[in-house]
Amino acid sequence: KEFIKACALFGLANPLLLTFCKEGNIKPSFKGKVIIIGAGAGGLSAGYLLSKSGIEYEIFEASSNYGGRMKINKTFADFTIPLGAEWIETNENIFKNTIGDSSININTIKDGEDYKFINYSWLEFFQDHIIPSISDKIKYNKVVKSINYNEKNIIISTETENTTSDKVIVSVPLKIIKDKDITFNPELPLSKIKSINRLEIWDGYKVFIEFSNKFYDDEFKFNITPKTDGEKIYYDATYGQNTSKNILGLFVVGKPVNDYIFLSENEQINKILSELDNIYDNQASNNYKKHIIQNWRNEKYIKSGYISDFSDWKDVKELGKTVNNKIYFSGGAYTDGEDWVSIHTAIESAKNKVNEIMFSN
Ligand SMILES: Cc1cc2nc3c(=O)[nH]c(=O)nc-3n(C[C@H](O)[C@H](O)[C@H](O)COP(=O)(O)OP(=O)(O)OC[C@H]3O[C@@H](n4cnc5c(N)ncnc54)[C@H](O)[C@@H]3O)c2cc1C
Repeated sequence: KEFIKACALFGLANPLLLTFCKEGNIKPSFKGKVIIIGAGAGGLSAGYLLSKSGIEYEIFEASSNYGGRMKINKTFADFTIPLGAEWIETNENIFKNTIGDSSININTIKDGEDYKFINYSWLEFFQDHIIPSISDKIKYNKVVKSINYNEKNIIISTETENTTSDKVIVSVPLKIIKDKDITFNPELPLSKIKSINRLEIWDGYKVFIEFSNKFYDDEFKFNITPKTDGEKIYYDATYGQNTSKNILGLFVVGKPVNDYIFLSENEQINKILSELDNIYDNQASNNYKKHIIQNWRNEKYIKSGYISDFSDWKDVKELGKTVNNKIYFSGGAYTDGEDWVSIHTAIESAKNKVNEIMFSN
């Protein structure tokens, strides 16, 4: 069963792997140690896949918890409030493909082109199905400052200690690399640096507001001009959930985030209520109960939303490229350039990178 799972996990698209699977032998040729930096969707998926392939690894996470931009709130309402990733932006096969188990059953509901979890979330999926296999490998409060890959062994340094490994999977937000919070020695290739500098990283901001009455539309989308500046949408956050509460979500990415984040929390909620009052005849202020705000710029080790939906795919593809057979990149941003900034792209990129590592020297 474990063998079938492993074949399903890595996908039979890889001809080399197909031979291994047919022969009943999925042993990787790589024998060394991997350090993964960052315990978000990309890092956790990479850890899970490495653990299934028997490769030695550890995950260094800067904060005191895993999940990154899958953060949730379980107390605001009687269903899970997703403060970052909310929608399943692919089909439901993602769950069985991620863990290699076709019997998995996650309750979802179709929402436009995407799906939504029902009283569940991406973080809880990871908690239930990924974390149990890897929890002892996650080392918290390890803020990586530099990666030296000059010599045969790679040296990964935090402020207080150095660790060596044969390969590194970098799974931190692009903003962390762009701001040089982690430095590389030697510097990353010029082509990658140029792409990093060209890519626009959007801010990300979400607000959930409970009202005593549902006076609002299921969705109210603003017309942002130019559209490359970002997105701003009010939406019924209770869609598909088992709840009788009235909770409105506000999702903002890109430049429109600036309208809120430089205000105090009181000013932010007042601005939002008066915006809604204008659309809905003063009903927002009259029905307001409570709110919760998530500004991703304020997260010390994330500092941003995600790279713009309008990015050039060639730059995104460049981000995902491996450096010197040693430094691999996995996460929402580090893809093959076809699709990016989602949980499923983070999982997919982890799969590709672990595949690459398994059959490398
Ligand atoms: C507002 C918002 C809404 C979104 N909505 C959706 C959605 O509906 N559906 C969807 O699929 N996706 C959505 N996304 C995108 C999705 O959340 C991300 O693409 C995905 O979570 C990124 O995962 P990651 O592993 O690449 O990075 P992250 O989740 O950011 O994880 C990176 C980890 O690296 C750690 N780290 C940073 N610096 C260091 C360091 N120096 N040393 C060690 N560790 C470090 C961080 O603490 C963090 O835990 C949304 C994102 C935002 C911001």
